[in-house]
Parts: sequence; C-alpha cells; structure tokens
Amino acid sequence: MADLVNDCPRCGAKRITFDVQTLHLYHTKYRSQHYYEAFSICKKCNRATTFLLEARGSDAGEKLSDEGLDGIKSALNSFVRVDTYVNISHFNAAESPDHLPATIDSAFCEGARCHAIGCYNAAGAMFRQCIDLATKQFLPKDTETDKVPKQVRFSLGHRLPWLFDNGHLPEALRELSSCIKEDGNDAAHDGTLLEADSIDLQDFTTLVLERIYTEHEQVRLAAERRDERRRKAADRPK
Ligand SMILES: [Zn+2]
Repeated sequence: MADLVNDCPRCGAKRITFDVQTLHLYHTKYRSQHYYEAFSICKKCNRATTFLLEARGSDAGEKLSDEGLDGIKSALNSFVRVDTYVNISHFNAAESPDHLPATIDSAFCEGARCHAIGCYNAAGAMFRQCIDLATKQFLPKDTETDKVPKQVRFSLGHRLPWLFDNGHLPEALRELSSCIKEDGNDAAHDGTLLEADSIDLQDFTTLVLERIYTEHEQVRLAAERRDERRRKAADRPK
C-alpha cells in the first residue's frame, strides 16, 4: 500500500502519513496532465479523507497510470502534488475554462467553490478578480503618457466599457457585462450579492476568459497541428 504524507483535515495532525487505499484518475488535461482522487486513511486518527492530487509532470503520471499504487516504492508525494481534499465546496462547483494562467485558474476555482456553498459575495469577489487579472494586459504600459483615465486602470466597472470601446472584448458580451457594477472599489463590495448575481458573474467571467485564453490557445494549437501535418507530408518520399 502506498503512503502519502500530508496534514490531516480530520484530526489536525501535521505532516502525518496516510495509507492510500485507492487512487482514481478522474481527469486528464492537455493529454499529459493527470489528476487523481486518493481515498486515504490517517495513521493517527484512522479516519478517511479523499485527497485531490496532481501528477508531478507527465512521466510521473504515466508511471502511476501504468503501474498503479503497487508500483510505488516510496511516498506518493514524489509523484504527486496534493491540491486539496474533497469537501462540500466541490459539490456541483463549475469547472474553469481550459488554458487559463495558473493564478486566474486558481481564482476561478475558488470563486466557483464559494458559489457552490452559497457564499455569493466571496464568489463575486473572486470572479471580479479573474476579470481584473485577465484584462490588465490590455492597458497601456506607460502610465505617464497614455490617455487612459485613472479610473479605467483601477476600477473594473470603468475598465469594461473602455475594453469594449477599444475592441479588446467582443461587442456581443457588452450587455452581459452589466453584472459588473460601476461601484468604484473592485476589491470590496457592499455584501449584497444574491445567488442570481453570482451566477451572472460566473457566466460572464467564463465567457471573457474563454475569449481571452481558451479560444486563443485552441487556435494556436490548431496552427501547430497543421504545421506538423505539413512537415510530415513534405518529409514523405516522393
Ligand atoms: Zn487524522
């Protein structure tokens, strides 16, 4: 049986060893990034936790897929990184769009999990943070000479109309952007978001992130595949 060392969410023990009884591959991203759920028993309190794990690179993922737990002679931690453990916030939480930068992916997942447990204001803050991080790249770098008003830089509510007006986001999304209020302070809001507001924000955030990251990467990958096909065709003997 393979071991996993982690803090125990059941008894609070730090850096304790778990017996990993089952390792289940539940998701593979970009063909080689493997994610697992591991049903594990704490050696201190003898209670079960299901950890969410990510393979440390494609080689570690392939070894786990080929040999399973029986092939692991050292702690499983050499092959996987512990992301978190299954808890109520994972029930029915939305998946993040593909190909997001790690910081934005993490913010989106946190927002989706907050939404899933009814913390709508916390969810709203995280979705706004996703859009803030994703759209900062469109602002001119030189703050001294550019003509962009200060409030566009610092307030998402003011930045969104500027992004639409300057062609950085598709016009079709403008109406949906009304879920981002022009309330000045983007870091904090007045704690009045309801479930429907949080859903609106999640939907709008998903569409914006798909447009900025997912579609862009899909096009890049398609071009890469096309170039590879052409290279192979050119290399074939005539
Ligand atoms: Zn324990």
